[in-house]
Amino acid sequence: MAGLDGKVAVITGATGGIGRAASRLFAEEGARVALVDLDEGALRELAQSIGEERASYSAADVTDAAQSQAYIDAAVNRWGGIDILLANAGIEGTLATIPDYPVDVFDRVMAVNVRGVWLGIKYGVPVMRERGGGSIVITSSTAGIGGAAEMSAYNTSKHAVIGMMRCAALECAPHGIRVNTVNPAPIETRMMRSIEEQRAAALDDADVTLETMKRTYVERIPLRRYGNPEEVARMMLFLSSDDSSFCTGGVYMVDGGRSAGSR
Ligand code: NAD
Repeated sequence: MAGLDGKVAVITGATGGIGRAASRLFAEEGARVALVDLDEGALRELAQSIGEERASYSAADVTDAAQSQAYIDAAVNRWGGIDILLANAGIEGTLATIPDYPVDVFDRVMAVNVRGVWLGIKYGVPVMRERGGGSIVITSSTAGIGGAAEMSAYNTSKHAVIGMMRCAALECAPHGIRVNTVNPAPIETRMMRSIEEQRAAALDDADVTLETMKRTYVERIPLRRYGNPEEVARMMLFLSSDDSSFCTGGVYMVDGGRSAGSR
C-alpha cells in the first residue's frame, strides 16, 4: 500500500463507528487528519487519542453552509491544505412507509446525507485544486443501489450521493481529483443497532429480539455476518491513497457479497 504519508484528510462523521476506524487508520498510515462531527467533547477525545501532532478537529453540522466552509478553512489553517475529503457523516432516519414517514425526518436525512456531502465537496474542491489533485470518498451504502421498504429517505439519500459522485468525478478529473463511493452492507456500529431496534419495535412481537432481527439482515449477506468498521476503513484507505490512482467515478462495495445475489 502507498500509505498516506504527507497527506491531509478531512473526515466527517469522524467520531462514529466507521469514521473513527477511518480516522485511526488514516493517521496510522501517515496522514494528518482533520476530524469533523457534532460533539466537541467526543472529537477532542478522539483527537487526543490519535495525538494532536496528527489530528485536529472542528465541531460542525455538515448541513450548514457556513459551518462547512469553516471546517474546510480550519483544516487548511492547521495543516496547510487538503488532499482527501472523506464525506462520511450520515443518519439513518426512521422506519416508516412513505405515507407515514414524518416530513421533517425526511428533510433531515436528505440534509445530512445529501446536502452535507455536497457542501463538503463545494468548499473542499477549490482547496484541493490548489494542491493539484486529491481524492474524495463518499460513504454511500448497499442502500444506494437497491430499495428497502420503510427506508425511503435513507435509501433515496444513498442513491443520490452516487449521482453526485458521478457528476463530481467528471468535474474534478481535469484537476486530478478522483471521486468515488464506498458502499457498505450492514456494519457493526450504532447505526445498525438503531435500525434493528426500530424494526423490532415496529413488529411489536415479544418473540422478536434484537438477535433475531440481526439474523434477518445477516441471512441476506453471503459471508453470513455484518462487516466491521475497519473493513470499510481499509477500502476508504485504498481509494484515498495513490494505490487507486486510476480509480474515479466508481462505486466500491464492501458488502460481504450482499449485492451479488438478487435484491
Ligand atoms: P454512526 O452513527 O456511528 O456515525 C455517524 C456519524 O455522523 C456520527 O458520529 C454522527 O454524530 C455524525 N453526524 C450525524 N449527523 C451529522 C451532522 N449533521 N454533522 C456532522 N456530523 C454528523 O454510523 P456509521 O455506521 O459509522 O455511519 C457512517 C456512514 O456510513 C454513514 O454515512 C452511514 O449512512 C454509512 N453506512 C453505514 C452502514 C452501517 O451498517 N453502519 C452501512 C452502510 C453505510
